[in-house]
Amino acid sequence: MKENQYKPETGLTHDDCEKYEGAVVPPIFQNSLFTFENWDAADKAFEDRQNHFIYSRGKNPTVKMAEEKLASLAGAEKAQLFPSGMGAVSAAVLSCVKSGDHVIAVKNLYGPAVNFLTQYLAPKFNVEVSFVQGNSTEDFENAIKANTSLIYLESPSTAVFSLQDIEAVAQLARSGGIKTIIDNTWATPVYQKPLAMGIDLEIHSCSKYLGGHSDIVGGVILGKAKDLDEIFTHEYEWIGAKTAPFEAWLLLRSLRTLHIRMEKHQQNALRVAEFLESHAKIRMVRYPGLKSFPQYELGQKQMSGYSGLLSFCMDTEDIDKVKLFFNSLELFHRGVSWGGFESLVYAPAISYIKELSPEQFANMGISPGDIRISVGLENVEDLIADLDRSLERI
Ligand SMILES: *Cc1c(COP(=O)(O)O)cnc(C)c1O
Repeated sequence: MKENQYKPETGLTHDDCEKYEGAVVPPIFQNSLFTFENWDAADKAFEDRQNHFIYSRGKNPTVKMAEEKLASLAGAEKAQLFPSGMGAVSAAVLSCVKSGDHVIAVKNLYGPAVNFLTQYLAPKFNVEVSFVQGNSTEDFENAIKANTSLIYLESPSTAVFSLQDIEAVAQLARSGGIKTIIDNTWATPVYQKPLAMGIDLEIHSCSKYLGGHSDIVGGVILGKAKDLDEIFTHEYEWIGAKTAPFEAWLLLRSLRTLHIRMEKHQQNALRVAEFLESHAKIRMVRYPGLKSFPQYELGQKQMSGYSGLLSFCMDTEDIDKVKLFFNSLELFHRGVSWGGFESLVYAPAISYIKELSPEQFANMGISPGDIRISVGLENVEDLIADLDRSLERI
């Protein structure tokens, strides 16, 4: 099949059956090594290791199949899968910085990414890290130093859902010879195409919507072939971040339904967000798809749709009431992560209340009454009734 001839969702639902005895689902290549017919064939493979199968710590056919689908979807020249989103985050960052460099990142990034930058990269490798609000491109401009080598974005951020003007930041970085990375997990490659806006490396946790069935942990880096070939050799093969063929196969399964899942997540989430926004016991809702969202215009400009993760603040500081609401929900499972078929609820206070002072807590832009929900694929009336009933109890 000529992939580019069709729309992305068509490409995701078609495989080269003739190659695999007509099997409509390609097999899993569960082998550690590949054999060569003779000396010359082995010699040829080692000449161009990025494009040959030699050993499954490097290229593997099942992993490659998933990578090619993801690259085509995101408009990337190449993709590299990783065993987790954090594997992709750390590899992408390591590929852009060296000791003595300076990194600018947005405030309220995904927590473990912050920890990697501030508690690992900074002290061990003498990399300087500055955090900026990022709502205005000037925030980045003002933070640039002579040794800045990387700007790291997450738009929308999954903590407070703030957006950055991706095209403007990419342009600013490019003019100063600075690399850019964006964590695009929230919007998915279906609804946001940062590479077309000039970003160098786009990363995703495949554990969220790309996987979508809450049975995969994985990550991916997307970008230009030159950058991805280097990442393959250094951060993937040398560091040994091997992706399991079975996980890649599950991901291929997931990608076949990505577009219809995203449409439904978007529809359901918008309905839930509108319900919450109109409820007297809710102080505010953070969802980029709501017209009342402060950066709604920017979202409209750079995204073609919205996913299902949102947060809201209950109109109470009484943690017992927040707990009662949280525990009363029947359809929303209580748990971390998001992006699966199932609706989930989590309260940032559970993780932070023990570690942070009330001031630090407020500084992060969250409050004890904050609740995060991942709106799943259930019937939306059922979800709204569950929220309504649990709000009635407080
Ligand atoms: C979950 C997540 C990650 C990390 O992905 P893992 O697969 O859990 O390692 C990175 N960024 C964002 C925004 C996430 O939500």
